[in-house]
Amino acid sequence: MPANPTTMADESLLMKVPAWWNCMTGFEEMRDKARLVSEQVLRPNAEISDREGTYPRASLQALADAGFGAVTIPKEYGGLGAGCSGFAILAEIFAGYCASTTMVWVMHTAAVQTLFMAGSEEQRQRYIPHVVRGQIGGLAFSEPATGGHFWNVVSKAPRHGDGYLLNAHKSFVTSAGEADWYIVETNSPDSPLSDPLMFLIVENNQEGVVAFPFDALGLRGNNSGPMKFNDVFVPEHNRLGEEGGAGFYNDTVIDPFFLLGSSACWIGIAQGAISTAVDNAKKKIHADTGQSVANYQVIRHEMAKAQILVDSARSMLYRVAEKMDEATRKGELLSSCLYPLWELKTHAADIVIEVTNKALQISGGRGYLKGNIERFMRDGRAGAIMGPTNEVLREWIGRTMIGVPWL
Ligand SMILES: Cc1cc2nc3c(=O)[nH]c(=O)nc-3n(C[C@H](O)[C@H](O)[C@H](O)COP(=O)(O)OP(=O)(O)OC[C@H]3O[C@@H](n4cnc5c(N)ncnc54)[C@H](O)[C@@H]3O)c2cc1C
Repeated sequence: MPANPTTMADESLLMKVPAWWNCMTGFEEMRDKARLVSEQVLRPNAEISDREGTYPRASLQALADAGFGAVTIPKEYGGLGAGCSGFAILAEIFAGYCASTTMVWVMHTAAVQTLFMAGSEEQRQRYIPHVVRGQIGGLAFSEPATGGHFWNVVSKAPRHGDGYLLNAHKSFVTSAGEADWYIVETNSPDSPLSDPLMFLIVENNQEGVVAFPFDALGLRGNNSGPMKFNDVFVPEHNRLGEEGGAGFYNDTVIDPFFLLGSSACWIGIAQGAISTAVDNAKKKIHADTGQSVANYQVIRHEMAKAQILVDSARSMLYRVAEKMDEATRKGELLSSCLYPLWELKTHAADIVIEVTNKALQISGGRGYLKGNIERFMRDGRAGAIMGPTNEVLREWIGRTMIGVPWL
């Protein structure tokens, strides 16, 4: 009978994976803190949130209490000042425990960063201290009329007294009815600019704000349901930036932060799935052969293929995040990083499907039963259809490759 390598544990013979391969240098302490809160709060709540479709309120508050409520905001405003690298590492860690919490947190972080970049000093002072303590922001962009083309919404908010009258139907809003405020993308028919897109801050408790339920394959704690904004009056002081011209912030804040954070989420799910599958394979011993499932070479090859896929996406993630931080330090716009972000998101959302599928196969019947593996698979499936979808991104990449405008 061949030796069972899963029972041999001579430490000196083991290959050590270098620490820098799995975490950007300098972020180890933050990663460990993220793991601790994830172990203590996110992990036990994840299964309940998925089963019952409940919003992960306690997990989100635990993240804020741990100092992760405003991670990309500078320290002088009460944020963590962790930059894009910190954002990416944290999202990746959280996703290995609870993808619903992670996606809510990614949307929230992108919303907070947009408020910070597009907002006035008064708006920063009004909102940032509260998100540091646990308030949640959301992004209400996609509309049924234009689907995944969220940069082409049809809703309007004409001027009305000393503000705007917003009427909008949004198809998917993560944290719908649960966030404290939303950045709503709409059009200003009164804008003097060629780009009529306008961002408005709408509070959840305002009259005319209606949220609908979300019952989906995965990310079931997200409350990513539709929302309607019926004759909602938005005072001028809740307009972010100019009356029009918000497309600039789509390219320089929303897309860069959402693409980075969501990619980290898909990578974290994929790593969570393959790590769980490896664990399952080591523990399952066949009585007839005396071998663990991990001792079958064909299974180990599937593990290796999955891990290489995860690490390929993670390498892209770290490289892009570091470049985004470098661009920020140099005062460059993050639109300079869009092309690599398109490749990163497409790859991360593709590999999470392949890796979770392999994890289920490696885990056998146990992987097919209700539990972590099948949840990782359902949660990760959202990546390719979340905007910009993988079809749209491949088209933009292909257009760029042949030298024609991407949009
Ligand atoms: C869990 C979840 C959370 C979400 N959270 C938010 C949120 O917080 N805020 C928000 O604004 N939106 C959110 N969305 C919406 C998301 O970003 C996309 O807009 C949405 O998933 C796209 O779905 P759709 O049915 O509208 O796509 P459609 O545009 O109808 O697409 C259907 C299919 O056509 C393809 N397709 C579309 N356009 C093209 C094209 N030009 N070329 C080639 N193929 C194309 C798509 O790739 C897809 O395969 C969320 C979606 C999900 C699933």
